[in-house]
Amino acid sequence: MSAATTIEVSPKVKGFLEKPIRLLIDGAWVEAASGKTFTVENPATGEVIARVAEGSSEDVDRAVKAARAAFESGPWANMAPTERGRLLWKLAELLEAHQDEFAQIESLDNGKPYTVAKVADVALAIDLFRYMAGWATKVEGNTIPLSGAPAGRYFAYTQREPVGVVAQIIPWNFPLLMAAWKLGPALATGCTVVLKPAEQTPLSALRLGELMLEAGYPKGVINIVTGFGETAGAALAAHPGVDKVAFTGSTEVGKLIVKAATGNLKKVTLELGGKSPNVVLGDADPQLAIRGAANAIFFNHGQVCTAGSRLYVHKNIFDQVVEGVAEQAKKIKLGPGLHPETQMGPLVSSEQFSRVTGFIEVGQKEGAKVLTGGQRHGDKGYFVQPTVFVEAKHEMKIVREEIFGPVVAAMPFDEIDEVVKSANDTSYGLAAAVWTRDVSKAHKLAAKMRAGTVWVNCYNVFDAALPFGGYKESGWGREMGHEVLKLYTETKTVCIQL
Ligand code: NAP
Ligand code: MG
Repeated sequence: MSAATTIEVSPKVKGFLEKPIRLLIDGAWVEAASGKTFTVENPATGEVIARVAEGSSEDVDRAVKAARAAFESGPWANMAPTERGRLLWKLAELLEAHQDEFAQIESLDNGKPYTVAKVADVALAIDLFRYMAGWATKVEGNTIPLSGAPAGRYFAYTQREPVGVVAQIIPWNFPLLMAAWKLGPALATGCTVVLKPAEQTPLSALRLGELMLEAGYPKGVINIVTGFGETAGAALAAHPGVDKVAFTGSTEVGKLIVKAATGNLKKVTLELGGKSPNVVLGDADPQLAIRGAANAIFFNHGQVCTAGSRLYVHKNIFDQVVEGVAEQAKKIKLGPGLHPETQMGPLVSSEQFSRVTGFIEVGQKEGAKVLTGGQRHGDKGYFVQPTVFVEAKHEMKIVREEIFGPVVAAMPFDEIDEVVKSANDTSYGLAAAVWTRDVSKAHKLAAKMRAGTVWVNCYNVFDAALPFGGYKESGWGREMGHEVLKLYTETKTVCIQL
């Protein structure tokens, strides 16, 4: 690929990256209390692209107080739902107007192709805000006849009230979209927020913060504290002034969040890891399954919590499908995210690079065979070749643990009962997929999968209207759809004797 055709970084993005990027607390951009900053790098080159404020527990405390004040009094506390909906819609409009800029920021910060960031991350974030804008006016309760009292003695109803101050801690794989998934329902229901983006990718959330002020969100409604998980994140999860913590990231840290939340028993929702089974039945359309299985694992470089990292293919078509996936892998163009031809960028950080290449080594040591890939790509940045393993066994680390990279383990099966058992034999339960032309088998298998989402003849289809979340150690609660609104509200029962 020629360097000459690289997409030019826009002056707006350059301007944003060059200025000091601060914390958003109580409607103002402020330095961290310690005065400290940390650097953000471009994973395609390892070069520093920005410097952001390093928030700590003192900043978290200020942000929580601002969020509390905005929740309890002032314009937000008394705002009509229509107005909250209008603000979310306006945010979507502003994001749409700046979509190129956001796609560039996301590409520079995370490494993903600009073209993908634009049609996936940014487009889905816009859609999420629009979808949630509509819900702001539809958060309703019920009237409930008492079961044990004579008719007419009591009048009882429920109403749903915002849960309060919400701490939201998000990862680096879809930085803007994860911010949208979290902020949308919180703002639709009338909560206030302290958001902590991932240390590797804080930029798009901070730029979104600027748009939120431009949209007219009152001060303190949204606060953004950048910093490290062990300091800023841990302080947020433990803070007694926070009513709910919503977390997306590793299962390991999810467990720490639960522990940290016990002090004031704040509500907790978690969207954690996965090791999703992708099952291709013998009657599947092989070409569709090949493209689908490749997309399932290689989309976003495998840095997706739903990545289809365990590929089970019926033995009759195993060689055809797996070789097809390997062919697709070989064709993927790796390069910097801002190159228009790039289909796969670098992994997000040197840490992730070591983790993924470490898994590839362990897989080989344990006896699995690399059909394609398995190596670093180039000598700069954190590129890893899309990798397909065969001869993988159920007990192997590459089959059991979340790799979070472009690495799939393919395994043949014979009987449907056998593959259901293998598919469900995992501590995770985020997603699963089935490829078949038999509608009856599709429904039967969908029912048997112990996973929060089951895709049939498709993969990684996300939509603001579809609830998303995990069984087992993949999490607590759901994001998106109207399901999520329950998790940002408390139910109040009012019972009146007439
Ligand atoms: P992580 O540590 O779970 O990070 C997610 C978020 O939690 C980040 O904002 C992080 O801050 C913060 N955090 C870390 N420790 C914390 C603590 N003790 N208290 C409160 N917040 C804390 O994920 P990672 O280290 O970036 O990635 C490690 C692995 O997690 C990946 O290889 C992958 O397997 C998995 N992962 C899963 C998802 C998903 O969507 N399910 C997303 C990303 C990663 P820092 O940025 O400072 O660490
Ligand atoms: Mg971490």
